[in-house]
Formats: sequence, structure tokens, C-alpha cells
Amino acid sequence: MIKKLLVSLLIISLFLLIGSFLNLEYLYTHSTPIIKTSLIIFIICISFLIKKINQKPELMLVNSLRQEEKKEENNQKKVYFKDVAGLDEVKEDLQEITDFLKFPEKYSKMGAKIPKGVMFYGPPGTGKTLMASAISGETNANFMYASGSEFVEKYVGVGASRIRSLFEKAKKQAPCVIFIDEMDAIGVSRSSDNNSERDQTLNQLLVELDGFNSYENIIVIGATNRIELLDEALLRPGRFDRHIYVGNPNVRAREDILRVHTRNKPLSKSVNIKEIARKTHGMSGAQLANIVNEAAIFAVRDNRSTIGNEEFNKAIERVVAGLKTKNAVISEKEKRIVAYHEAGHALVGRILNNELIEKISIVPHGQSLGFVLNSSSEDRFLMTKQELHQKIQTLLAGRAAEEIIFNEISTGAQNDLVKSTEIAQQMVCEYGMSSLGNRTFNGKFLSGYESYINKEVNLIIENSYKDSKSILLKNLNYLKLIAERLLSEETISGRELEKILKVS
Ligand code: ATP
Repeated sequence: MIKKLLVSLLIISLFLLIGSFLNLEYLYTHSTPIIKTSLIIFIICISFLIKKINQKPELMLVNSLRQEEKKEENNQKKVYFKDVAGLDEVKEDLQEITDFLKFPEKYSKMGAKIPKGVMFYGPPGTGKTLMASAISGETNANFMYASGSEFVEKYVGVGASRIRSLFEKAKKQAPCVIFIDEMDAIGVSRSSDNNSERDQTLNQLLVELDGFNSYENIIVIGATNRIELLDEALLRPGRFDRHIYVGNPNVRAREDILRVHTRNKPLSKSVNIKEIARKTHGMSGAQLANIVNEAAIFAVRDNRSTIGNEEFNKAIERVVAGLKTKNAVISEKEKRIVAYHEAGHALVGRILNNELIEKISIVPHGQSLGFVLNSSSEDRFLMTKQELHQKIQTLLAGRAAEEIIFNEISTGAQNDLVKSTEIAQQMVCEYGMSSLGNRTFNGKFLSGYESYINKEVNLIIENSYKDSKSILLKNLNYLKLIAERLLSEETISGRELEKILKVS
């Protein structure tokens, strides 16, 4: 208001000033109608111009914000599978869903129903949001992003009504991909605490998931870092029934991600992406994208025309140093221990043939620094005593390998020890598989037997450990080959493991 008044005063004073200089009154009374009109237009234009200049900063800001929004929308739409590097298995898993969104008639003709919901889970920054957005890009479907925390409100019913309107909007915009990030904010198990607002929101989400049918051409994708916290009702068939793990990338995937992010950047010829991928062990896609960006910023700061190795090294250092407290990248020494530990598990498991190995990895995820992924060829309902012994041998093989190679043991076997103690204890107390006889030990039949049970459990574990160690010692060359391959490749598939065992 004050601004407007000032502008008006300015115009009037300007007008008077010009008037007194030019003897405007005389001019006005004695001039032709054309001159009079142009004078009026001139004054209107001047006042309009002054007004516009006065408003410019505001308008510019609003306009630029609008442009940013639009840019963001367009950017979101423009993500395709080619922009998501290194998640080929996930893309394969999502093949039917993308096909369904592209050709819904094909499926409705057959009466086939496609999963309504997919749950991405895994560590942060691994590309879950990016992948969801790429599905919409590939299928030309609308993308609706929501974060679980948006639905968390103090007042009962608000979150639920937001869920309702999200799905209403999606139905109007079908084909549509609804992506709900941070699912744990609304989807935690209802038994964990008493929160009626969150329960209502979750119930509403379940109602909405049940409410639309599979022909409606809407896919709901959820994402969480902690799937184990989610309510079972959310994950059951007909809701988020596809659970897809999106993990930290291995060395090859890191290379692909780095290539995607350096695609449109001027790199110096000496930059070796493979080498950068090797150096960034344990980092997520988001961290890699950050490294490329930091390197570009360093190059601008140093007035360089291209991004070189020096910039990348500085960027890695910055990201690693920044991460140390939160998400420490493991040292070379630890990496070696993890490699031998996992190689030990895989080798003993494979030799005893009690497991079908799908993948061995030393890419950290969650709390674990590596893993051996097994798959059973058949469902098992019974286990023999020998098989249980072999299971314990495989569990203890990680520690045995560490002891053989480094003559030292680490904390890395903690989880294995928990599991093997549990099995040994079940063998003694529940399955009657010890020298204490064909009987169980629990409840009132336990007291007085504790020390005997402990002795038996120890015996099973010690014998299994010795057996495990002797298997590894007999196959030391294989152990080394697997571990060394892990150190260079970080992930080995079951097929590659077979090749290593055959060739040598
Ligand atoms: P959060 O669990 O924290 O929500 P997220 O798994 O959803 O993380 P995104 O938001 O998808 O991670 O990834 C963040 C950024 O990291 C992306 O915008 C992209 O720049 C980069 N990024 C992550 N993974 C990949 C990948 N596989 N390929 C290319 N870029 C990636």
C-alpha cells in the first residue's frame, strides 16, 4: 500500500516537474487533439513502466520458481531405464509391470491380474525413487510422488484423508504410478505402539489398495529402508506383494552409474572410470552421483575446462570424509577379512552341498559387510542330524577361514555364532540329537540339566568348527581363488563360482 502511494507521488511530482519545465499547461490548452492524446498515453506509459520496474523482483522470483517447478516436473517425466544404471535384475523383475502399464488390454483379455503393489527396500540412495520414476517414463504413465511423512499428522483423520485424495487423483490420471517413499512412516506394524492417527492412515491405505481393481492401470510402489518394520497386512498378497531388494552397487554397477552421471560432462582423457569405481567400494548410487558433481564443482573452482583425476580424487575424499561418522567405507584390511570370511561360507556350503549358492558379495548392505545368497532347490520339511551339523559347519566356516588365513578372528562372525548356537541348542533340547538321549529339555524338564546341555551344545559347535576348518585346509587353493576374485569383482554369481571350482 505504502509502495503504491510512493509510486503515485513519484509520478505526480515527475509530471509537475516536466510540466513546469515545458510549460505544459500552455502546451495542453493550445495543442491539437493528437498531441493531447499522445501526451496522455505518454503519461500512462511512464506510470505503467514505473509500476513494472517497482514490481520486477517479485515477479522475477515467482516466474523463476514456476519455471523451476516445471523443469522439475519435466525432469521427473524424462527418467528412463537407461538413466538407472546397474539394476538390471530389478528391471527384469519389473518387466511384467511395465508391460502391463503399456498394454493393459493384453492382460485384461486373458483375465490376468498384475500385482497392484511393489515394495522396494534397501539402503538409502540406491535408486528406488529413480527406478519408480523410470517405470513411469518407460510406460508414459503419470508419476505421483508422495512421502510417508506427508501423511503423518497430529490430528486423527488428516493422514487418512490425504491418502484418499492421493488415490482419487491417481484414478483420474491413470495410467499412473503412485510412489510412496518412506513407507515406514505410515506402515509400521500396528502392534508396535498405540498411535490411532497412524493406524487410521495405514487402514486407509489398505482400503485404497483393496479398492481399485487390477484393470485400473495404476501401480503403487512403496519404498522403505526397513521392510522388517512394516505391518504384515501391507505386504500380503493383493497389496504390496512384490518385494524387491535394491542394494548398494557392486564394482560393475558403480562403473555404470558413474558413466551415467558423467555422460554430459567434459572429462579429461586421463580419467579412468573403472579405477574410480574400484575406489568407491561400499558407496550408494546417490553418493556416486554426488562425487561426480563435487568433481565438477572442483573443476569450475580451479578454472579447468575438463574434469580430471585430481578433481575426482578430491571429490572422493570429501564424500568419504563426510561420511565417516555416518556410513564408514570399509578399509582394505577389513575388505580382505570380509572376502575370506564369505569365501569360507560359500566354499564349505558348496562342498557339503547343503546349499545352492546364488551369489557371494562383499558389498556392504545394512549392518552386514558381505553375504552369501543361497536358494534351496526344494522346500524342506525335515532335516537330518547330519544336515544340521553341516549347516553349523557352513555357518562357522567364515570364522574358520579368518583364523586359517589371518591367524586371528574378528567380530564379523557374531551373527553366525548366534545362529549356530541356536541350532545346536535345538538339536539338544528339542530334537533329541545328543548323547543326552531321545528327549526334550524345556519348561519343568529343564532344571538340573543346564550344565549337561551347555556341554552338549559346546561339543556340537566345537566339532563342527574343527570339521569346517579341515574342509577349508584341504581346499585352501579354492578358498584363496574365491576370496581374491571377490576382492577384485566384489560379487560372484553361483555360475562363476562353479567355473572357479572347475577350472582350478
Ligand atoms: P532413499 O531410500 O533415501 O529415498 P533412494 O533409494 O530412493 O533413496 P534415489 O532417490 O532414487 O535413492 O537416488 C538418489 C540419486 O542417486 C538419484 O537421483 C541418482 O542421481 C543417484 N542414483 C542412485 N542410484 C542410481 C542408479 N542405479 N543409477 C543412476 N543414478 C543413481
